[in-house]
Amino acid sequence: MIDYFDLEASLSQEERLLVDSARSFVEGEVDDMGEHWIEGTFPTEIIPKMGEMGFYAPNLEGYGLPGVSETSYGLLMRELEACDSGLRSMASVQGALVMYPIHAFGSDEQKEEWLPALGEGEAVGCFGLTEPEHGSNPSAMETRAEKDGDEYVLNGSKTWITNSPISDVAVVWAKDHSEEDHPVRGFLVETDRDGVTTNKIDEKLSLRASITGEIALQDARIPEENRLPGVSGMKGPLSCLTQARYGIAWGAVGAAQDCFETAREYATDREQFGKPIGGFQLQQRKLAEMATQITLAQLLAHRLAELKESGEMRPQHVSMAKRNNVRMARDQSRIAREMLGGNGITADYSPMRHMTNMETVYTYEGTHDIHTLILGEDLTGIQAYQ
Ligand SMILES: Cc1cc2nc3c(=O)[nH]c(=O)nc-3n(C[C@H](O)[C@H](O)[C@H](O)COP(=O)(O)OP(=O)(O)OC[C@H]3O[C@@H](n4cnc5c(N)ncnc54)[C@H](O)[C@@H]3O)c2cc1C
Repeated sequence: MIDYFDLEASLSQEERLLVDSARSFVEGEVDDMGEHWIEGTFPTEIIPKMGEMGFYAPNLEGYGLPGVSETSYGLLMRELEACDSGLRSMASVQGALVMYPIHAFGSDEQKEEWLPALGEGEAVGCFGLTEPEHGSNPSAMETRAEKDGDEYVLNGSKTWITNSPISDVAVVWAKDHSEEDHPVRGFLVETDRDGVTTNKIDEKLSLRASITGEIALQDARIPEENRLPGVSGMKGPLSCLTQARYGIAWGAVGAAQDCFETAREYATDREQFGKPIGGFQLQQRKLAEMATQITLAQLLAHRLAELKESGEMRPQHVSMAKRNNVRMARDQSRIAREMLGGNGITADYSPMRHMTNMETVYTYEGTHDIHTLILGEDLTGIQAYQ
């Protein structure tokens, strides 16, 4: 795939190996994403295979996790999203939104119970933050937890939750009403508990090859030891989102690269007016612009990885990279679609599938607008959310 500034020349052997194995996994095991997208299904049989390949939270250490470099992790997200955003979402949610908080904030028992199972893809997890009335402003959440003896009773409802209908465990963020000031706390909620339901959301027109649902909690009782002990307040969910947004900043580049390669190949094959359409200046301009925008996004992603590796990455850096790279992929997938003419609107080619997926990626993990406000606040010192 396009690497115009030869960024991959400086990859380590580990990083190169990871790119190659992810790419051959995708080519060998998931060559039918277009069909899944049309059907609105996810190929669940590959969930444990992705675990075997080490695709879930490989940048963490311990509990059988290899602790690969942040560049390796980013490249993995890029390769998965070059196939489909649904595939990258599976790995992102499992790794960055479920395993990361257990790893960072969980008790030893929670880590031992869940990290190996989630890492191997024997168990599936989901992350419940968004509520029907509170999306961009999750700190206004209404889901509540109340202590009752050595249990917590949870009530509330979460929506737009990736994988909730197929999950074994949900990381649910709720306000703890047993404590003063009602701090936000994370709870590990097994989805087969009484009072927990996870209905599927159907008829999505974006991210169709990904399972999305709700989490309804009605007097759901969980033992006290299911609370994540190591964090309190919005820092908990927000730090998970920083991890996942990092993967998205890389993943979106993969989707755009796949669109670019599809458009370039089409432009050299497809003939009109007696020559390949790639021989017309108008089409060359589109390819030149696409290649430039992809290269800029790749540079941003690689530098972000360096900052993350050295511990200098700030959430605002991630906001800029997520915001820019997703907008880039959203714009460029549309141009690629356009270059494919009528064929571009079919599922036989990937650009329109990527293009519609990007509507979700543009919206979840902080909308484009919200990342603009995060950057605005960082640049001026003035909050403009309210
Ligand atoms: C397919 C899919 C999967 C998802 N998976 C998950 C998941 O696994 N877990 C999870 O917790 N959530 C998930 N989400 C939810 C996602 O994070 C939210 O949709 C997102 O945060 C936006 O919230 P909202 O949809 O309520 O939109 P709203 O917050 O209602 O925003 C509507 C519009 O208003 C704009 N807006 C909001 N506030 C401001 C402001 N202050 N200034 C200017 N404009 C503003 C927004 O940018 C947006 O354009 C998923 C969403 C989708 C679509």
